[in-house]
Amino acid sequence: METRLKIALQKSGRLSEKSLELIRDCGIHFSSNSRVLKEAAENFPIEFLYLRDDDIPSYVYDGVADIGIVGRNEHDEQNFPLEIVRDLGFAKCRLSIAVPNSMEYEGLKSLDGKRIATSYPTILQKKLKEANVQARIYEISGSVEITPSIGVADAICDLVSTGATLVSNGLKEVEPIYTSTAVMIAHPGLDDLKRGILDRLLLRLDAVMKAADYKYIMFNLPKEHLDEVASIIGGMKSPTVTPLLDENWVSVQTVVHEQRFWDALEKLKELKAMGILVTSIEKMAD
Ligand code: ATP
Ligand code: ZN
Repeated sequence: METRLKIALQKSGRLSEKSLELIRDCGIHFSSNSRVLKEAAENFPIEFLYLRDDDIPSYVYDGVADIGIVGRNEHDEQNFPLEIVRDLGFAKCRLSIAVPNSMEYEGLKSLDGKRIATSYPTILQKKLKEANVQARIYEISGSVEITPSIGVADAICDLVSTGATLVSNGLKEVEPIYTSTAVMIAHPGLDDLKRGILDRLLLRLDAVMKAADYKYIMFNLPKEHLDEVASIIGGMKSPTVTPLLDENWVSVQTVVHEQRFWDALEKLKELKAMGILVTSIEKMAD
């Protein structure tokens, strides 16, 4: 039987859609309509296991799955000796200390002797230890944000993205202690065959992730401004320059990093570029 790389994905939650999208963008086809427990891809030697995110690190550690996608927070909290093969960049969030609006907060020291509720005792404890703060940590698996109002804790340490949940519970975010994004984790001792499949997957993944950071731009430019434009859109080794019928003009095509894109666009306008076309890039490999 053909060897397949088993990848654990969150069945439903904040990581699910993006994880599946990333894999689809890698040109891997699968149905995933039902998200049954297990399914095989149609055109790549990979098999999906849909699980609760909390279970993914231990399954990858035990070898039930070979690789998985989880929040870095979950990986660091559970602390299994796994390999992080890629930071995937999505599902960005932070673990923050939040306290009741009425409490005065002057840094982690304010938590000395206090009770803190969290689902991330390991990460929190590490941070408190670094700051030389002694507090009682209560591990709670859900609805951490209600614990101060029912008198169970003085402060909480929880995942935040917008902060709306905190506000509606009369809490204020006072200190981010940790930031997380989704990561791809791997069993540390994959055999050569599986490592080979993983490498093929990573080649595709890198092409997809890199492409997401860049734009492809095309424009016409008075020839006299070519040098100036080349210096602005530096970073790209060689824009493609094609002559136009009007010999005072050229057509330029190049790839520019998303971060420089708006700057570049403004400068191009100043330099009388015309017919500027911008397209996203689907895949990009060196
Ligand atoms: P499951 O049913 O799989 O256990 P869950 O409720 O524990 O799901 P989600 O809320 O879907 O998990 O979050 C999964 C991951 O998404 C988190 O571990 C974290 O890495 C990330 N995440 C991103 N933004 C947020 C947020 N605002 N709140 C919580 N987690 C977030
Ligand atoms: Zn979970």
